[in-house]
Amino acid sequence: MCLSPHWCVLCKGHEENADHLFLHCPFSLNLWWSLIREVKAIWVIPKDCFSLISTRLDALGKGKKALILWGCLGHSLLWNIWHERNRTIFDDYSGGSELEIWERVKFWAALWASITMAFKDYSYSYIVRDLVAAVL
Ligand SMILES: [Zn+2]
Repeated sequence: MCLSPHWCVLCKGHEENADHLFLHCPFSLNLWWSLIREVKAIWVIPKDCFSLISTRLDALGKGKKALILWGCLGHSLLWNIWHERNRTIFDDYSGGSELEIWERVKFWAALWASITMAFKDYSYSYIVRDLVAAVL
């Protein structure tokens, strides 16, 4: 089953499609829950990718910094899922730990946010250390 080109390489338990890979795969869900826990938000995982991109992502608040950081976190999470999938398929990679990937999600999100004007007075390390405090 794992050799099938249509099988999810992250969980090896479901056919791969965009909704499964980015939202409902147990691997991806754990990353989403890590994000939700970290920002102390209440958020329902969308039913599909269309709902994800058409939903205003404001779990960190409605301020400019909150929207930017939340956007960076969402994009970083999706990008890291895609990166992990491709490494597993093309690099014969057995996968990193959940914590390692979650740290990568935060790293890239904080780095991307830190180069925006809204975060010009904040260092990358400050943002990554406390995502919630960074948007206050
Ligand atoms: Zn899966």
